Amino acid sequence: MSEHFLLSTNAHTLSLKSIMPMSDDEAHAKFEAIRFAENGGAAFYRSCECTKVYTYRAHKIWKCAACLRQFSVTSGTKFASRKLPIRDYLAAIAIFVNAVKGISALQRGRDLDVRYKMAFVLARKIAKPSARIGTASS
Ligand SMILES: [Zn+2]
Repeated sequence: MSEHFLLSTNAHTLSLKSIMPMSDDEAHAKFEAIRFAENGGAAFYRSCECTKVYTYRAHKIWKCAACLRQFSVTSGTKFASRKLPIRDYLAAIAIFVNAVKGISALQRGRDLDVRYKMAFVLARKIAKPSARIGTASS
């Protein structure tokens, strides 16, 4: 009998221990790898599924070679108009997915050092499915 998935190494791909020492660039690269996993971690524009993109390294955005629309690693996600550093969103996601029995917004707020309201909004964004995930719009 094989071990439970949550005990396997495949379930330990996103840990707070690995996220918290990350620089902004490293966190962005990790988010990019997760977001564009179906393209081997390389950015592509979801609306037209174009994999040829131009990179603006200074601003961490891309431009679709086909339709010339610009997009970021969070475009089309619930984190599109983000206010926190990208590392904090990675940490919030890690806390959420690793808390098998769930976690309160109060605890999330303390763990991430954000106010309760922000922790509550984060919890809603991460937990509640949305039609916007997987599609690009901004
Ligand atoms: Zn395009």
